Amino acid sequence: RQAAIQLSQVNKYYGVYHALNNVDLTIFEGEKVVVCGPSGSGKSTMIRCINRLEEHHGGRIVVLGTELNEDLRNIEEIRRDVGMVFQHFHLFAHMTVLENCILAPMLVRKMTRSDAEAMAMRYLERVRIPEKADKFPGELSGGQQQRVAIARALCMSPKIMLFDEPTSALDPEMISEVLDVMVDLAGEGMTMVCVTHEMGFARKVADRIVFMDRGEIVEENTPDRFFENP
Ligand code: ADP
Ligand code: ADP
Repeated sequence: RQAAIQLSQVNKYYGVYHALNNVDLTIFEGEKVVVCGPSGSGKSTMIRCINRLEEHHGGRIVVLGTELNEDLRNIEEIRRDVGMVFQHFHLFAHMTVLENCILAPMLVRKMTRSDAEAMAMRYLERVRIPEKADKFPGELSGGQQQRVAIARALCMSPKIMLFDEPTSALDPEMISEVLDVMVDLAGEGMTMVCVTHEMGFARKVADRIVFMDRGEIVEENTPDRFFENP
């Protein structure tokens, strides 16, 4: 099996605060990994280092065969193949749903507008909100906005999808509509890394659960083993 993401002895500091402490983790192509652990344990920092939203200090991170370093070209390459979904959606408020989805495919992948729109509509159907294409994000519920954010990431045809607590900012009744979409995606070959507290989701889709505490990975297990622990 081929590694999609490999972290070796990765450290990260915010000033003097040691946020990641010698983290080793290998995620294989097609694998679904759920990252959990207490608030402040470094989960978000770890996945933000994987697409270089944060810079690591020491150790190596290799994503799809490319080592992340100071070379900006590397980072652009990686971001094309790594989609990210955040807790707070990060949609462009002044653009419609469809415009949000086609922006990067047109700018980065140089798709024509009509090709990009056709693709975006397919993904909006996939996340079950094609009828919202011409709305602005502010006109949508949190659950709908998050599904747009997922569709937007998918429009770059990523090989890896990173989710950083995608349901934590949602009202309870909207959580399942986002998780259902994620379960559906997990059925495909894509590599997925999800930071989440949704253990039902983890049990259903994870090949592996990684538990972090104080900047370290303290347990890594299959869901069966993870949940049988005392
Ligand atoms: P988690 O995702 O597990 O809740 P984070 O990775 O967000 O944890 O944060 C780990 C620790 O690093 C926390 O103590 C947090 O306050 C700190 N931290 C995160 N981002 C920053 C930042 N930009 N500047 C300073 N400290 C940060
Ligand atoms: P998102 O929707 O992107 O997950 P959040 O509301 O979770 O947004 O905010 C995360 C941001 O806050 C990150 O840029 C992170 O680095 C920063 N952050 C987290 N903890 C701290 C901290 N203790 N000090 C400064 N910045 C922090």
